[in-house]
This record gives sequence, structure tokens and C-alpha cells, in this order.
Amino acid sequence: MQTNFTSDQLLDPAVAQSEKILRKCVHCGFCTATCPTYLTLGDELDSPRGRIYLIKDMLENGRDADARTVKHIDRCLSCLACTTTCPSGVDYMHLVDHARAHIERTWRRPLLDRFYRALLAAVLPHPARFRLALTGARLARPFAGLLSRMPAAAPLSAMLALAPARLPKASGAAGPGAHKVIGGRRGRVAILSGCAQPVLDPAINEATVELLNRLGVEVVAPAGEGCCGALVHHMGREAQALDAARRNVDVWTREIDNGGLDAIIITTSGCGTTVKDYGHMLALDPAYAQKAARVSALAKDVTEYLSTLDLPRSETGAGIRLAYHSACSMQHGQRIKDQPKRLLASAGFTVVDIPERHLCCGSAGTYNILQSEIAGRLRERKLANIARVKPDVIAAGNIGCITQIGSGAGVPIVHTAQILNWAYGGRKPPALAGLTATRPIAAE
Ligand code: SF4
Ligand code: SF4
Repeated sequence: MQTNFTSDQLLDPAVAQSEKILRKCVHCGFCTATCPTYLTLGDELDSPRGRIYLIKDMLENGRDADARTVKHIDRCLSCLACTTTCPSGVDYMHLVDHARAHIERTWRRPLLDRFYRALLAAVLPHPARFRLALTGARLARPFAGLLSRMPAAAPLSAMLALAPARLPKASGAAGPGAHKVIGGRRGRVAILSGCAQPVLDPAINEATVELLNRLGVEVVAPAGEGCCGALVHHMGREAQALDAARRNVDVWTREIDNGGLDAIIITTSGCGTTVKDYGHMLALDPAYAQKAARVSALAKDVTEYLSTLDLPRSETGAGIRLAYHSACSMQHGQRIKDQPKRLLASAGFTVVDIPERHLCCGSAGTYNILQSEIAGRLRERKLANIARVKPDVIAAGNIGCITQIGSGAGVPIVHTAQILNWAYGGRKPPALAGLTATRPIAAE
């Protein structure tokens, strides 16, 4: 794509980077075929190519964001299906990141929109506040029907619908400190505790720590680490996201320098995509560039790391039909496609792919709250596709997807690490209590 940025504009490193990305786009439109919002809404401006034109126009003309551009960029899930499809290697992720930050700086959103976004940015990254909000949501459930009839309250209504009916007790089992192995140690890793996941389902990291310990890997959860910054990053709140990144980089760097780390284990793929991008996000910060690149190089999804440990064959899953849901941040953001399925197949499960597996379930960070109508349509499409393969259980590696899909799937959806922990000597996830083999083992 031809661009016409001035040499002055290109002095801004963010603009220079976006110009390079824009130049790679050849307008072929292949990306439209796999874009969930284009498939749902049918508007070219809700396709990657349309959004690329809007971003180019906004940045090249050096103008503030306008209502039309904001509307179509806000509707983007940042699912990155377009980057997987694009034959020209267009780095849409960093382009839309730049656009969102530009919008945040130059566009004054309507009052209610500002309120909801400020609320989400102030609550979600902080586990104690998030827990309190979920408790409040339970009390507000009787008003859900009323709120759903008020368009201005759509985000509140979506929050109530997503809030779990029962909140697991806070647990320190995978909390700050070193979780040591008994016997010989084959590795030492840090685990990201994160923000929303330990509130919604602390059993995920507990199962991960148990499994890694049993495999001879010491796991440390360093005090001071917290939200990776992804939630606010995707809202264009650049400064807040970079603060979160710097804090985590400092904590992990201390751990690397003191005890040494083989990996930084992440059990939420949305966070994994962001931590792997810290090196890029902080590349222009001389005090952090090197440290952040080191942290990003060590970041691994739990299934990526487990794949290096040569797990033996297990028969725990024999006769159980398991549909693997690959989160967008897993398959498109981190390009992790086969490892989770191989691990689950090695644990004896009959692993089946979900039709249209490249399409987002609509979760996408805060998307299912801020764009609840589109998110709901994507969820229904995902649930229909899951129903087609008639699974006994669904596995996924992202708490957002687990929450989004979970309430309507009709079968349990459990984190991959919990299933693998069970398969290799750990506790059976409570959600699978009634699960028994329904079929003889069959390769698919
Ligand atoms: S597939 Fe790639 S090159 Fe083609 S229009 Fe989409 S982003 Fe541009
Ligand atoms: S990130 Fe997803 S929703 Fe956004 S343009 Fe790309 S494919 Fe479409």
C-alpha cells in the first residue's frame, strides 16, 4: 500500500512503525474471509482491510480520531485471525494497538462510555476490587432483566450475565512464594498469578503448580507481580499498560538474577500474548528495553513448557471425547496450535477440533462487556459449532473463553492444565466429577 507520511511525521517512532506495517498491505482482502466481525456484520469497515484504511487515513492526515473510525476500531476483537490469514505478513496487532492509543489520546468518548471504561480499568486488574465487584454483581442479579431492556445499561447487563453464580473461595495455594519439589529438581519457573483468573478460578494455577512440582519443576510466584496490562492495553490506555509491564519486568528480573528461571509460565493465553510483547512495548525505554526483551523470551504458555518435558502416555482420558477450543490469543496471537492437542491426546483423550476453530468466541478481554451484542452472536456461533462435535468435555487455555463459553455449552469446560494435572496423578477437576468414558478409544 502506498503511503504519504511526511518526514516530520516519521520522526515519531510509533508512526514510523505503522507506516512500515501499512506498506505491507496489498489490499488483497484474504483477511476478510476469516474476520469474525466482517462475517457477523458484513460491513467492509468492520473487516481488517477496512480498518487498515481507516487507520491509514487517520494517521496519515495527522488528525484526531472521529466517530466513524472509533466505532469500527472499537468493534475489532483484536483476535488476530487476520494476521494468521494475511499472506503479506501485515502486523495488524501493532497497527491496531497504535490506533487504539491514538483514539484514547484524541477522542472524547460519550460520558457513559467513559464511565464504563474507567470502571473496567479501575476494577479488573485488581483481584480484591474484582472480587468485591463480583460479589456486588451477585446481589444485583435480580435487576438483570430490567437492565437488559435499557440500551445504555448494556455493559452492566453483560457484566451481570458473565458474573459466576458462585465465586470460588480465595486461595493462597498457588500464591506468593516458592513451591518447591520433593526430590530431584529438573527446572525452576515463575508463574504469572495475574488478576481476573485467580478470582474466577484459582484452581487453574493450583493445578499447574501441582503438576509442575510433580514433574520435578520448582515454581515461584514472586510477590509484587500482578496484572500483565493486557486489559487496559486493549482499551488504548498505554501508560497504564506500560506501568503494569514495567512492574512485572522488575519482579521477574529480580527472580532471574537471584534464583534463575527456565521460563515464565502463563496459564491465560491472552496474558501470554501481552507478556511475549513486553520486549516490543518497552523497546523505546532505555531503562527497560533489554530487561523486557529477556522477560518476553522466557514467557511460555503452560502447554508450550509441558511439551518440552516429554510426558509419558496416560490412559486417564480413554473413551472421553474432548473438544479443544483454541483461544485466539493462543492460536493467532502466540501461534500455539498443536502442542495443547498433542498433550491431551497423550493423556488418552479423543481430541476433536471444533468447526470454524479460527473464529473468536466473542470473549476478547472486555469485548463481551463493551460490545455485548456482537460478542453474544459470536458466542452462539461458537456454541453451535461445539454442539456439532458432541464432546463430553471442552478444554481451553484462557479464562475469558472459559467464562464466555462455559454457561451455555451444556458440557463442562475446563482449563487444559487442570485436565493434564488429573491425567498425571493430580486431582480430578470438580466440574468433571460425573464424567465417565462414553466411547471406546478411537482415533479422529
Ligand atoms: S490479507 Fe493482508 S495484505 Fe491482504 S488486505 Fe488483508 S491485511 Fe492487507
Ligand atoms: S483482529 Fe480479528 S476482529 Fe479485528 S480485524 Fe483482525 S480478524 Fe477482524
